[in-house]
Amino acid sequence: VFTMAKKTFIFSKSILIFYANSKCVSARNVLIVLAHQSKSSFNAALKDAAVEVFKSQGCRVTVSDLYAMNFKATATPDDVIAEPRDSENFQYGRETLLACQEGRLSGDILEEHRKVKAADLIIFQFPMYWFSVPAIMKGWIDRVLTQGFAFTLQSIYSNGVFKDKKAMLSLTTGASGAMFSPSGLNGDLNVTLWPLQNGVLNFCGFQVLAPQLSHSPGYCPPETRATMLAAWRGRLQGVWTEESLAFPPTELFDPQGGFVLREEVQAAQAGVKYGLSVGHHLGKPFPPDSQ
Ligand SMILES: Cc1cc2nc3c(=O)[nH]c(=O)nc-3n(C[C@H](O)[C@H](O)[C@H](O)COP(=O)(O)OP(=O)(O)OC[C@H]3O[C@@H](n4cnc5c(N)ncnc54)[C@H](O)[C@@H]3O)c2cc1C
Repeated sequence: VFTMAKKTFIFSKSILIFYANSKCVSARNVLIVLAHQSKSSFNAALKDAAVEVFKSQGCRVTVSDLYAMNFKATATPDDVIAEPRDSENFQYGRETLLACQEGRLSGDILEEHRKVKAADLIIFQFPMYWFSVPAIMKGWIDRVLTQGFAFTLQSIYSNGVFKDKKAMLSLTTGASGAMFSPSGLNGDLNVTLWPLQNGVLNFCGFQVLAPQLSHSPGYCPPETRATMLAAWRGRLQGVWTEESLAFPPTELFDPQGGFVLREEVQAAQAGVKYGLSVGHHLGKPFPPDSQ
């Protein structure tokens, strides 16, 4: 009887564990922040493909379609409810930090905070504008990644607030991949993406997944566009187990020495062929897996 009971217990426990795991997978939340004006654009097609794949995985998908939402792109005093502490000398960072702590941020920011908080993965889907994101998406970054919510002075980079979440840039370009190579007309895309991948995503602690690059959808044959969409769908099937990009951990930098790489780290790097990252290149070639 004891053995039977034990077997039943083990059997039910396995079912429970199986159930817990599958529930865990199916309960994942994905937020797609989309910045394109047109539902018939290639960016919209990439977004639709992602929604379809994630739904087929049983994930919950939320889309912040910024133009459709008429999302406010400018960081202004309206983002704070009630009188600012210092309206004579309005300082956006200081005022929104206080408003965040006191529950006085505007409703549209709080709504995005709710979506970010729930997300296990955030995908930024956008056409490259002037080597960066469209203004409406920059506005989302400026306004939604509020100090006190997305970072504090103590919680940045590898100690960042969102270290349990993943984030990825999925972008289209007008230029070709060759034009964004180190010897191409536009220069190395790793350099172009560094401010967003390091200065925004890594700064807030996200595990930054390699960017999804869809080059020149407007100038390539239909077959190439079909191949790009298929590659995107294929990648998303395994996205949850992808390794994230490597950035040097905060502990390598000496707070007593002006947050510069510790002497012992610099000494250890002296004989290494590559720099530590695109930004921390130490006058050497970028590491091959920068992107
Ligand atoms: C202000 C501004 C600044 C810019 N700065 C830069 C820059 O710095 N660097 C740079 O490289 N580029 C730049 N560009 C170009 C821009 O990045 C590209 O035009 C954009 O990335 C193209 O993406 P899209 O979604 O708008 O393509 P779309 O033009 O919408 O689509 C491309 C093609 O895909 C087709 N398509 C749509 N859906 C599907 C589908 N489901 N299956 C197959 N095909 C489909 C469309 O019909 C179209 O033929 C800039 C553009 C602007 C307006």
